[in-house]
Amino acid sequence: MTVITISQSGTDPSQGCIPLASLQHGRGCDDMAETRAGNLGAVHTKFNAADADVVFQSPDGVQFRVHRRNLEIVTGAFPGSEFDTCGEITHLTEPARVLAVIFDFIYPRRYPDLKDLPFETLAEVAEAVEKYEVFSAMPTCETRLREFIPQRSLEILGHALKHGYSSLVAEAVPHICRLPLSTVMEKLPLHYLPAWVHYYEAWSSIFAYARHSLRGDNGFQSCQKIVLGSPLVSSCCQACRAACVAYITSLQELNTLSALKDALSFTFNPFPSGQQYFHCGNCNGTWGRTDGIYLCYHFVTVSNSIKKGIDTIPPFDYFLKGNSWGQTS
Ligand SMILES: [Zn+2]
Ligand SMILES: [Zn+2]
Repeated sequence: MTVITISQSGTDPSQGCIPLASLQHGRGCDDMAETRAGNLGAVHTKFNAADADVVFQSPDGVQFRVHRRNLEIVTGAFPGSEFDTCGEITHLTEPARVLAVIFDFIYPRRYPDLKDLPFETLAEVAEAVEKYEVFSAMPTCETRLREFIPQRSLEILGHALKHGYSSLVAEAVPHICRLPLSTVMEKLPLHYLPAWVHYYEAWSSIFAYARHSLRGDNGFQSCQKIVLGSPLVSSCCQACRAACVAYITSLQELNTLSALKDALSFTFNPFPSGQQYFHCGNCNGTWGRTDGIYLCYHFVTVSNSIKKGIDTIPPFDYFLKGNSWGQTS
């Protein structure tokens, strides 16, 4: 174990003996508490230096004997060597499995890659890394969290927002943007809910706009073409309009962006959930498609409107700045 410098401070409180619990040295110190040495716990085999000058203990009873100078240099929120804990054990709130990872990042050696950590432990480590400002561990935590985005996007979004990882936010949001509002509200920190509600409303507005854009019932039982025999359809019949409204509703209920894009592309599943809607047939056409799928002209119009709307919704970051947005024209 490499030791940079070891502070040898006295034990007289009048000569700089300061309980860690009383320090306000960056984030996290509020959670520290101290007890007298003698509150024995098992010592972690990897962090058991004979010349260690600070001892931490996890709630599950494992002690970590480490070097204060390393903490001072590598982290931003652990007290440095100018403070003396008078030989006391400092209790931290994180379990041993988390602290063992944290302390791995304070010594000048190859850092762990965290590849084998389950998400729950990784999330605890990432939170502790931010709390104690273990800068050397931050990039690795960000990289590993990114790999869990498809499965744990909501939790990762909360973490990324809280600690300012903008690229993680941007990557997590597409996995969440079509989830029901109540699902997101249950998981997202309260502070970000107003922005999310505005973001959600922006999405709702593109579906509302598509409904609004449907030409009204033309009074006929079938769609009418601009010129008899022309492929261009000018007006929508009652049946096609009802089918389009149902189509839009089904699109809006899809809870993943990938499912929505598939349904909009008509490539694999022209209608969400395999539903079919009656349309008059006078508007049937391939509309430039070459895959043999015949569609109601107005479904294509709806799809194009929503795809255009998706492309114009600002990123979530825009809403975090207090902005709102709605597609109205
Ligand atoms: Zn029609
Ligand atoms: Zn039609």
